[in-house]
Amino acid sequence: MSAHLAQYAGEPAPLEPGTAPVPRYGQGSLADLLPAITAGQGVPGMDTGFALEPADRACVFLVDGMGWEALRAHPQEAPFLNSLLATSSNGTGLPITSGFPSTTATSLASVGTGLTPGVHGLPGYTALDPHTGQLMNQLRWRPWTDPHAWQPYPTVFQRADAAGIATCQVSAPHFEQTPLTKIALSGGTFHGRLSAEERMDLAAERLSAGDRSLVYTYYAELDGNGHRYGMDSDAWRGQLMYVDRLAQRLAEQLPPRSALYITADHGMVDVPDTPEARFDVDEDWELSAGLAQLGGEGRMRHVYAVPGAASDLYTVWREVLADQAWVATREEALALGWFGPTVDDRVRARLGDVVAAMTGNSAVIATEREPNESALIGMHGSATSAEQLVPLLEVRT
Ligand SMILES: [Zn+2]
Repeated sequence: MSAHLAQYAGEPAPLEPGTAPVPRYGQGSLADLLPAITAGQGVPGMDTGFALEPADRACVFLVDGMGWEALRAHPQEAPFLNSLLATSSNGTGLPITSGFPSTTATSLASVGTGLTPGVHGLPGYTALDPHTGQLMNQLRWRPWTDPHAWQPYPTVFQRADAAGIATCQVSAPHFEQTPLTKIALSGGTFHGRLSAEERMDLAAERLSAGDRSLVYTYYAELDGNGHRYGMDSDAWRGQLMYVDRLAQRLAEQLPPRSALYITADHGMVDVPDTPEARFDVDEDWELSAGLAQLGGEGRMRHVYAVPGAASDLYTVWREVLADQAWVATREEALALGWFGPTVDDRVRARLGDVVAAMTGNSAVIATEREPNESALIGMHGSATSAEQLVPLLEVRT
């Protein structure tokens, strides 16, 4: 086999999947954030090992793609946010983990449901629908799939609303009717505003809607610019400066008895445009042998095998990617807790026969299957600290 030849040539040995960092499920991951907040507001049944100081009024501002490491590396672009780092002794100002994989659909579902990926069942950017045998895009919800069959649990927002907390989301108008919003972020009222400044102003206003309130607001474009131009770009740095001003604008308008939490869904890495950093499945006969479907995204792949090929596929992916990825069988990934301590039966079959989480700054792209995604510079999805660690910053009044 070629892999043996590669090792004769002095190539590095495959990484053991057990050496991959596992998200801090139950102790400081995105799935713990809303349960911790709403437990402090008296919403019943919110059990988590992660505690936050109670606040009657709580606002979560989620910045798409703002990793902890990148934020810390840019104090000049983000002076306000950096001033909130590690200023508090109760677990804020420090990083939490996003969950696995570190991607928007998975993370927003973890935030909104308070459940781990293995339970809410959005296991990546794309994942296999076992009932159709097709890949489903979890962010764009294509092809359309019954949302409540896919994610049957109530959101924390719905539970907070039922408990009498004045609950709302303030986001861009087009998110109101998306399936992802319905199954992850709905509950209470939705307020669509086109401009991010208006969203900040309205989020602060809505905090006063009740004695106890829960407000969620979101900003997308730091991630979008990171994907298109890379984090080492003026466009990305300009976006970070803008996010810093937005956060300060919101913080300065908080009503009394409020806590503002600023966090993110994942970080990002820039993937060099070199053949060494970009493994192209559509050009590599070894990686594509026995491959039925390629899920996930460049930094984290669900690899679905044709019947009978899973074992060979695992061996080849491990040896081809070598020290560029943690490659696990589905059973190994489950046993290691990558998707959380428990995984629902309905979710298991959505996971790859092989799961490949990239290290360093390389990616498994697919220039024919995914021409647009394969051209991106910034990518995310894996278990590295650059992708997994997200800030949990706090402002209290
Ligand atoms: Zn993204």
